[in-house]
Amino acid sequence: MPTLVMKFGGTSVANLDRIRRAAKRVGVEVAKGYDVIVIVSAMSGKTNELVGWVNETSPFFDAREFDAVVSSGENVTAGLMALTLQEMDVPARSWQGWQVPVETTDAHAAARIEEIGTENINKKFAEGMRVAVVAGFQGIGPDGRVTTLGRGGSDTTAVAFAAAFGAERCDIYTDVDGVYTTDPRISPKARKLEKIAFEEMLELASLGAKVLQTRSVELAMRYRVRLRVLSSFEEQNDNAGTLVCAEEEIMESNVVSGVAYSRDEAKMTLLSVADRPGIASIIFGCLSDAGVNVDMIVQNISEEGRTDMTFSLPTDQVKRAEKALTDIKGKDLNYAELVTDMDVAKVSVVGIGMRSQSGVAAKMFKVLSDEGINIRVITTSEIKISVLIDRKYMELAVQALHDAFELEKAA
Ligand code: ASP
Ligand code: MG
Repeated sequence: MPTLVMKFGGTSVANLDRIRRAAKRVGVEVAKGYDVIVIVSAMSGKTNELVGWVNETSPFFDAREFDAVVSSGENVTAGLMALTLQEMDVPARSWQGWQVPVETTDAHAAARIEEIGTENINKKFAEGMRVAVVAGFQGIGPDGRVTTLGRGGSDTTAVAFAAAFGAERCDIYTDVDGVYTTDPRISPKARKLEKIAFEEMLELASLGAKVLQTRSVELAMRYRVRLRVLSSFEEQNDNAGTLVCAEEEIMESNVVSGVAYSRDEAKMTLLSVADRPGIASIIFGCLSDAGVNVDMIVQNISEEGRTDMTFSLPTDQVKRAEKALTDIKGKDLNYAELVTDMDVAKVSVVGIGMRSQSGVAAKMFKVLSDEGINIRVITTSEIKISVLIDRKYMELAVQALHDAFELEKAA
């Protein structure tokens, strides 16, 4: 029988009533003839509560015990979902990660899936079980301890199962009805996309669109898993939601598919560093050792052998970056001053159409200039252009770009 993976996020299993609604959807697919693997998140808010309890108990916690605690939310929903299905006379049972097994690396709280054993679940399917309910977000490390995959990790569990079991599709049920051209809370003209290419979704996810964990999109792209993002609160039909798929499956698309933003950015500038080989390596090596995720980088034209180096980073890593760069000042690195700007935001336009069409960057800059918005840093890739601007203009920039590229209209 063909296999389908259905993943239900926290809001879709927030209480017993919603678990029943989700189970009904599973029942519909079983009736169509699918063997279904259901991946569940913890009830919404549960993981936050568990993380809070760990922090309160032990500020410098043992990561293995952190995982033992925070993985438990998913165990509850997996068992409840299996019970609900059984009440509906659908043969189902629950599986915790280690029982499958979902083998992961030993990076507790940020583990990566290495292998999923398909034998145990397939044996049960062969015996007549129709639904395997698997606790998302968790696995077992090489030392036999429970691991978790990082926040939002059940998306990754779902895609990994779809790849391992050769599922026809991986449906991600969430509280939004698909992927939008931008955040509808910022631009009311935002339009739901029928399809989006893996590459675009990957950019959007890593640029701040929160629908899918970035890692899950990477996996889907690598294993060509067709992903559908849809709402568990709306009526289901075959075209519901947004399909994340290979470029070849998309006949028509706009040059720009979406506008993404990230509010919590900061910009730091090292004034007057020597312009010589090895300087960038010292600065960014030191930041990387300190666990700082640098994003955009600009180096100014140098004057008399000195230059300024500017980079962006998440606001919550500024303290760490400041400490690291202050520690090496006067030792490995000389500079006049370190200037931090906490009030910036990143706005990006994304689209595979940019590969073949020129002028997108010019148009973007013109739109921002017409709105009187100053661009502080620019970065580009083949399919995206990002700018760092003052945070107070973020909404305006998103709306203006959405309008200018006419994203409210389908191609
Ligand atoms: N429950 C976990 C979290 O809240 C994993 C997930 O829902 O994807 O991050
Ligand atoms: Mg999620």
